[in-house]
Amino acid sequence: MEELLDALLRECQPYTAHGKVATYIPELAKGDPSDLGIYVLRSDGRHYQAGSYRKHFTIQSVVKPILLLLALLDNGEEVVRAKVGVEATGKPFDAINVTDSPLLSAHLNPMVNMGAIAICTLIHGSSYEERFQRLLNFTRQLAGNPEIDLDEAVYLSEKRTGSKNRALAFLLKSYGMLEDGVEEVLDCYFKACSIRVNSKDLANIAFVLANHGKALQSDEQLFPPEYARYVNAIMMTCGMYDGSGDFAIRVGIPAKSGVGGGIMGVVPTRMGVGIFAPALDEKGNSVAGIQVLERLSRRMYLSIF
Ligand code: GLN
Repeated sequence: MEELLDALLRECQPYTAHGKVATYIPELAKGDPSDLGIYVLRSDGRHYQAGSYRKHFTIQSVVKPILLLLALLDNGEEVVRAKVGVEATGKPFDAINVTDSPLLSAHLNPMVNMGAIAICTLIHGSSYEERFQRLLNFTRQLAGNPEIDLDEAVYLSEKRTGSKNRALAFLLKSYGMLEDGVEEVLDCYFKACSIRVNSKDLANIAFVLANHGKALQSDEQLFPPEYARYVNAIMMTCGMYDGSGDFAIRVGIPAKSGVGGGIMGVVPTRMGVGIFAPALDEKGNSVAGIQVLERLSRRMYLSIF
């Protein structure tokens, strides 16, 4: 397995030159596009790592499954589903891509920004600061790492420049789908995206999702198995955005990407994988990261299909 990861690192390193680091959040433009880190945690407790697996980056959209899990724990499936749907496209089979019909919860998905912003309103807490703290603590618990914290510079950078997310939040508000103030909800969302992790943290979190909600070391049930099924299923269909179909064919495991360069891969019952490679394709997914996962999946027969 050590040799396999070293080989993957060698083979996939050149792909880091095929992508670009995100620049629409100015602070992310400082990332080193040549970074590539891999961390694998297996169900027998062994872990394997290669490259810049220790390097820290912001979790960005990889927080979306965690937000969803906490919303499920706080409210149960019925309430979450009534607020944010689960369909990859949110459109009927004969939809024309332009519509002026009202926005409904069925059009939302927890893995894309608008759905994740709506999910923030479901996290319990007397203030949005408290909601974020609960999310941060839950992330630390899933990763088994109490040192996980907020990257203040990335948070402030996105808060200052996040017009598109503001537009999405105002759209939710205009359709009566956001009861609270746009700025306070977005503040929680921007902070959530700016949680600082490394590949190991992502592999540990992925492992809990692969292990039906049970932590590896403590054997503690961190969330019910049915929530693992719910979150993994949505990651499978939408975790790589509009690249999810291609990813399902090439890799075939539930995964979630983020524009910080992270990918969290869940191989049910077998392993959690954390990847860091911040050079992204045009869809916002890590180019070298997908290459690593594709090769890992082929050589270890990980695809669930
Ligand atoms: N914080 C980012 C945003 O909202 C997250 C997007 C992503 O990682 N794909 O734009």
